[in-house]
Amino acid sequence: MEFLTKLRNRLQNFLYGRNGFDILSRDLNLFAFFLMLLDSLLRTHVIYWIGILLFIIATYRIYSRNIVKRSAENMAYLAFRAPIIQKFKNQWQQLSNRKYYRYYKCSSCSQKLRVPKGKGKIEVTCPKCGLRFIKKT
Ligand SMILES: [Zn+2]
Repeated sequence: MEFLTKLRNRLQNFLYGRNGFDILSRDLNLFAFFLMLLDSLLRTHVIYWIGILLFIIATYRIYSRNIVKRSAENMAYLAFRAPIIQKFKNQWQQLSNRKYYRYYKCSSCSQKLRVPKGKGKIEVTCPKCGLRFIKKT
């Protein structure tokens, strides 16, 4: 028991003041894992070593003591991926609503429009630019 307590204390001291696991490190690890898996199929070795490099960067970030810089990197990454995730969420919602709604893009301003399905021919008015057009739903 004495040994385990000592070990736990040493581990706590080692991790104290370090950045730890954040979203960027998690995604770097996942991407590295994906690249290594991909390389096991393609056998290019280049992709494998890129994966190893990403894994090293992720590990470095986790144990880094420069928390301010690592946190700024993580925030920049979150800001970068937010619109991508939103796009996937929208696509998913569109896909799961396809029974009840039809989606159109305004030909004038590219605004995405949602109209109920099964209403026959209806006039759609774009809420952004006011363009009116007839669509069959
Ligand atoms: Zn419009």
